[in-house]
Amino acid sequence: MKYLLLLLLALLIIWQWRGWRDRGTRNDTPAAGGAARPIEMVACLQCGMHVAVPEAVTGRLGSYCSAAHRQRHEA
Ligand SMILES: [Zn+2]
Repeated sequence: MKYLLLLLLALLIIWQWRGWRDRGTRNDTPAAGGAARPIEMVACLQCGMHVAVPEAVTGRLGSYCSAAHRQRHEA
């Protein structure tokens, strides 16, 4: 019975150590995975279509899907 308790204690220590080690490696990943964030989207003020922020046409009042819609909305 005494050996069973020692074995249980050893398993507990190993399990704790593995959890601590996994947390240590997981702390390294956000720096590498930080670039893989989702692309931000905006809705066109004229037609409501969602476009990625880098591809959106920015006008005086907001963002648009195309220069044509910006002209039509801000004219
Ligand atoms: Zn549009």
